Amino acid sequence: METVDVTIIGAGVVGLAVAERLSRTGRTVVVLERNPRHGMETSSRNSEVVHSGIYYPPGTLKARLCVEGRELLYETCHRWDIFHRKTGKLVVACSQDEVPGLDKLLAQGEANGVDGLELIDAGFLRDLEPLVRGVAALRAPCAGIVDSEELMRLLLRQAADQGAIFLWNAPVTAAERAAGGYLLLVRGMADPVETSAVVNCAGLAADTVARMPGLDADAAGYAIRRFKGEYFRLRKSLDIRRLIYPLPDTHGLGIHLTLDRKGGIRLGPNSFPVQTLDYDVDAAHKTEFLGAVSKYLPCVSASEIFPDTSGIRPKLSSDGSFRDFVIAEESARGLPGWVNCVGIESPGLTACLAIAGKVADLLEYAR
Ligand SMILES: Cc1cc2nc3c(=O)[nH]c(=O)nc-3n(C[C@H](O)[C@H](O)[C@H](O)COP(=O)(O)OP(=O)(O)OC[C@H]3O[C@@H](n4cnc5c(N)ncnc54)[C@H](O)[C@@H]3O)c2cc1C
Repeated sequence: METVDVTIIGAGVVGLAVAERLSRTGRTVVVLERNPRHGMETSSRNSEVVHSGIYYPPGTLKARLCVEGRELLYETCHRWDIFHRKTGKLVVACSQDEVPGLDKLLAQGEANGVDGLELIDAGFLRDLEPLVRGVAALRAPCAGIVDSEELMRLLLRQAADQGAIFLWNAPVTAAERAAGGYLLLVRGMADPVETSAVVNCAGLAADTVARMPGLDADAAGYAIRRFKGEYFRLRKSLDIRRLIYPLPDTHGLGIHLTLDRKGGIRLGPNSFPVQTLDYDVDAAHKTEFLGAVSKYLPCVSASEIFPDTSGIRPKLSSDGSFRDFVIAEESARGLPGWVNCVGIESPGLTACLAIAGKVADLLEYAR
């Protein structure tokens, strides 16, 4: 293979968005994915929520890329007929002492430029969603849902049409600096891939990949902590039209209720640390789910929910403290043309197109 301009490691939704964005420029783009197809890890194991942008401190990448990415995502889905629905969402305070939490999210969301946010009282909440109980709620009309598999297939097809080459079953095992770029060793390939630039979109393995060319990932703060999130599903559909969230807790957004494209209802995810990539859902966690959900949806009983899927978050913090996305071109660490995308947990799906734009800017491929 001749020297390629940019090699992307990982074909989750972020790697695919980056491939689509960079292949627009006419540069040669190769994507190396360790699995037999795209999106087999976190990108197909999430809530598929298009987030509004209320949860992240103003000025952070998470805040900016979520708000920017959301609009890009809706435009793209609309233009290419990818399933999405602006359902809106309600963050529900179940008791008076939770109401200041809504005020804080409202202020933060407004500072982040999230339009249409509104605090509503218990009566209006009951009018909007008769099955949901709470003393007040924050309404975010711009939140919604998207079919992540359809989105990934679109990005893959567009990137391939623009000349990007995808290699499946191609795990990158080592990387070294070479004249004018990098040599990437790929298991099963006799020759290394010679590339001028690298974009590390390796999700749960992004810290491992970041270490490959010699970067000290611990010192850089790139070490990933895996936090699993399980889902349960409701046996029957309920008359609920919006996404329903409790107040966020230390490790996540709280066990919330999301809708899928067929009107099915999922509950989750919970959050706990794990060491391995095991996606089983522990049926014994039903009690935890019922306890959390019954606070805002008292009509659900134990017999009506059953274990569904799970996903694993690539977090940069283990104590619940805020850590921003890392999207960094590493010239300052002696690795010019190497871009690391690390800690791309939620809202990575919502933000994927904006993340791709940021990577393009960093590589100075922006048009
Ligand atoms: C439970 C849960 C719920 C979530 N809910 C939402 C939500 O509702 N809305 C939202 O916006 N975000 C959500 N997210 C976050 C979102 O899913 C992620 O931010 C996004 O999917 C990350 O995409 P990615 O491409 O970076 O990672 P991934 O999808 O994990 O892709 C990384 C790819 O890299 C490949 N790879 C790794 N190492 C190598 C290697 N050495 N060589 C080759 N390939 C390699 C992997 O096989 C994988 O395919 C959620 C996440 C979780 C876990």
